[in-house]
Amino acid sequence: MSIALQSYITTLLVYLGVNTIACWALNLQFGVGGVMNFAFILFQSIGAYITAVLTLPQAQSGTYETYILGLHLPWPLPLVGATVAGGLLALLVGAFALRPARRDFQATVMLVVSIIAETLVVTQQGWFNGASGLYSIPQPFASALNLSPTAYSWFFAGLVLVVSLLVYLFVDRITGSPWGRRLRAMRDNPEAVESLGTKVSVESLKLYVIGGAIAALSGGLLVEFIGAWSPAAWTTGETFIYFVAVIVGGLANNFGAFFGAFLVLGVFLEVPQYLPNFSYTNTESAIQSALIGVLILVFLWWRPKGIVPERRRRLSKLAMSTASAAAAREAGTSAAAGSARDPLSAELVRNHRRVPRGVVRDAAADPDLAIAVRDVAREFGGVQAVDGVTFDVPRGQATGLIGPNGAGKSTALKLIAGALKPTRGQILVDGVDVAGWPASRIAQLGVIRTFQHTSEFAQLTVLENLVVAAPGQPGDSLGGALLGRRHSRARQHELLAEAWELLEQFDLTKHADTYAGELSGGQRRLVEIMRALMAKPSILLLDEPMAGVNPTLRLTIEEHLQRLRDGGLTMLMVEHELGAIERVCDSVVVMAQGRLLATGSMEELRSNEEVVSAYLVG
Ligand code: ADP
Ligand code: MG
Repeated sequence: MSIALQSYITTLLVYLGVNTIACWALNLQFGVGGVMNFAFILFQSIGAYITAVLTLPQAQSGTYETYILGLHLPWPLPLVGATVAGGLLALLVGAFALRPARRDFQATVMLVVSIIAETLVVTQQGWFNGASGLYSIPQPFASALNLSPTAYSWFFAGLVLVVSLLVYLFVDRITGSPWGRRLRAMRDNPEAVESLGTKVSVESLKLYVIGGAIAALSGGLLVEFIGAWSPAAWTTGETFIYFVAVIVGGLANNFGAFFGAFLVLGVFLEVPQYLPNFSYTNTESAIQSALIGVLILVFLWWRPKGIVPERRRRLSKLAMSTASAAAAREAGTSAAAGSARDPLSAELVRNHRRVPRGVVRDAAADPDLAIAVRDVAREFGGVQAVDGVTFDVPRGQATGLIGPNGAGKSTALKLIAGALKPTRGQILVDGVDVAGWPASRIAQLGVIRTFQHTSEFAQLTVLENLVVAAPGQPGDSLGGALLGRRHSRARQHELLAEAWELLEQFDLTKHADTYAGELSGGQRRLVEIMRALMAKPSILLLDEPMAGVNPTLRLTIEEHLQRLRDGGLTMLMVEHELGAIERVCDSVVVMAQGRLLATGSMEELRSNEEVVSAYLVG
């Protein structure tokens, strides 16, 4: 092989490795977690700059190159420093950008941060030598190895390969873990994840920091190879090229990210260099931009899931076999007791949760009240959606909440669940005033709600939708994920078996491996109810669980709700199907125009003229 060819190949290999690492980082943030990091290139760049100033000796006075630090550290300390710096910068940016749940806000903040950073680095000459950038950065081990330039390139390509493998093992642990599953659920529906007890902004921030650190590592490797770095290398447009790469390759798939890095950054950005030269100066980059633009359009139109789409996690076989093994064990142990295993009975509704830290129960509170709503109000721009409502939800009973459309029923449920904050009033859950708490914290108390509009995790399978809801999963945290599959396996099998039994009861086993987003509306509602049950609620809030469900399934849902009630689960249920309310609920609360109209049994309400005229007839 000629020297020129070898140098060309090694350069491509290094770039491929660096870009793949970067794509894995972006894929983790955007493809897995749904975080739109429009400042992505900034993190790669901080890694490059920090590596440079940790590798370079102190800036010489009298020369034109000025920069901070200049610590002249031995390898791999500059890379370590770069990784830490990337993580810290992400912590700083993310702590601000990721706090509000709105993704458009997050993306905009990151874009603005990226642009501000570009300007700062150019104007602050003393940081990283301004617009001219840093150069003559020594390559690691170059003097010690004393190789020919070609041999050194091969050596460096090998080094990049090793680092890439390490990064792959790291991201693979995360994406394959229970935590990875929760992150994908966050991507699909952050509000629902919040309602199951996870603070989305905190988990997003962790993901953002990890991605920022890995992106910085990729930048550090690159600068060690090319020996120079300047603002021209990291314009905001570069971020979009990385986005194109992970979208084209296939989101939420680590092999997809690799393919994307290869195709977009390797082929599409390389090929134009070999096209005949036109007379314009910027032809090459213009053609590159145009190609990238066409590429993303083609993919968004014909193959929006990318070349290697997200892998469907087929867990049904494992779930079925663990469920039957568990059933056999149960049969052995409970034959004497003579009780069949029934996940909808007391065992399921038993509250596994501990009271969150810092929660003090009011000793004087009535122990028979699961929820006490006291003079609660909520307005939306002058409209009193809930207007000073007071009612009780007795423990261990099913309570119905009915009223005409727009009465404020859903708003009342959201206020109890913490999805909305009340403008005034008290909401006591087990004697604790939770008014104004975030939804995740209220869910940790065991208050789980279902949504009026179906809120399944569309790109998770039905089984995954159920398992992700369960509290207390080893591996469902950053640290747990890194411990590997063995650490979380036993509990995962337990949960799969539990989920499988629920699917059997709701007659949905044939859809165990179906993406929840592909189900019918009625089936999605069932998934949501099962998911809520997997979360081990102590209080279940149901918002129109039968809306959009066919009559047969309605009956199934009704039967299950009756069994849950008989098992002692506290429920508050909004529903228009009054027959079901009558059969399931012990008492009923009626709302109209944001106010409490009446409470009592269905029978009592039928003889209440005010209720009849407001709702039951009209
Ligand atoms: P219900 O569930 O009983 O049909 P809702 O609680 O959904 O009623 O709504 C009660 C009232 O509050 C309606 O007038 C509705 O338009 C209004 N409302 C509900 N949510 C919002 C919101 N996010 N922004 C503005 N108005 C809202
Ligand atoms: Mg409603």
